[in-house]
Amino acid sequence: MSIQSEPIQPRTAPGGDLPTSVCARCARQGGACCRLDPGGGGVCFPVSAMEWDRILDVVGGTRGAFVQEPNSPPFLDAMRRLFPGEGRVVAALFPAHQFHLRLATTSHGDCVFLGPQGCSLPREARPYYCRLFPLWMQGDRLTLLHTPRCLALREGGVAEEVLGVLHMRERDVRTLHGRLRLAWGLPPRPGLPMPPPSFARSRK
Ligand code: SF4
Ligand code: SF4
Repeated sequence: MSIQSEPIQPRTAPGGDLPTSVCARCARQGGACCRLDPGGGGVCFPVSAMEWDRILDVVGGTRGAFVQEPNSPPFLDAMRRLFPGEGRVVAALFPAHQFHLRLATTSHGDCVFLGPQGCSLPREARPYYCRLFPLWMQGDRLTLLHTPRCLALREGGVAEEVLGVLHMRERDVRTLHGRLRLAWGLPPRPGLPMPPPSFARSRK
């Protein structure tokens, strides 16, 4: 869940992953992207209002599934690394001393939606970051978020192979990344004007 990874599926709906999928196998081994290290909440990825609403549509009015997190310097640094060259946009979307939303975690650091077979949410309801991880776009280039514990990353090794391990196509990654940018409030492509706010910031 951390966004500190440097940029370097079908996951079946509804109701989580196939037991044989790499993410389900990863979850049984302790998982990686659905857990936070102790004290890691500050660098967990943000959840936009749109993504929040979509999850609540599926799980009902479970507002406890989300927590507010300050736009701290480590969070802003991690966001700038995810979107290199777009620091001003990130700073405008996540003003210092304000808050954003993230997924809540249990006392062990597990995402509240993590089940024994992996994510319990239908794929379409998951935050875009979850649906992309560990794949990412840097500019126009398909890349990976470096997370040694990710089983898909370990099995695939390089982005093109990780696509296959997760049963995704490059165009899926491009589409999801574009949707994430819009959901988080970034312009459709670096350098274009910002769209109207749909910020991944706290709604209070
Ligand atoms: S994306 Fe990687 S870290 Fe996340 S559950 Fe799948 S294999 Fe594990
Ligand atoms: S919503 Fe699902 S995929 Fe995303 S962190 Fe939680 S359990 Fe993992």
